[in-house]
Amino acid sequence: MKEDESVLCSRCGSGLEFFEEGSISGQRCLCCGLSVVTTNLSGIKTDSNIYEVSCSGDYRNEAHVRAVSAVSGFNFIAARKRLKEGHFSVFSGEAVDVLKVKNTLVSAGVYCTVEPDFPWG
Ligand SMILES: [Zn+2]
Repeated sequence: MKEDESVLCSRCGSGLEFFEEGSISGQRCLCCGLSVVTTNLSGIKTDSNIYEVSCSGDYRNEAHVRAVSAVSGFNFIAARKRLKEGHFSVFSGEAVDVLKVKNTLVSAGVYCTVEPDFPWG
């Protein structure tokens, strides 16, 4: 990746070193320790595994219910009912979609888990 060679540390101006650990890649500065991490999205697109997202939240919390409704396709009432019942499977699909679903849920404050182990954050 050519653009990585010219990136300089925003803190101390040293050259950054490209690194990759699992699905996480980015640049880091060996001089001051600053790191800029990016999820490796080129990898996620080639991941054809099917992941299952399960979640649990507070059925009295409108943000939780709306997030669950948005990712599952359940209407508001159905989403609230599922939340009331406890931890449940809300979505399954490929990594790219799972990441969106997970972000939607997490940003609303809903607790969620992904199986099998989701390497994309
Ligand atoms: Zn630095």
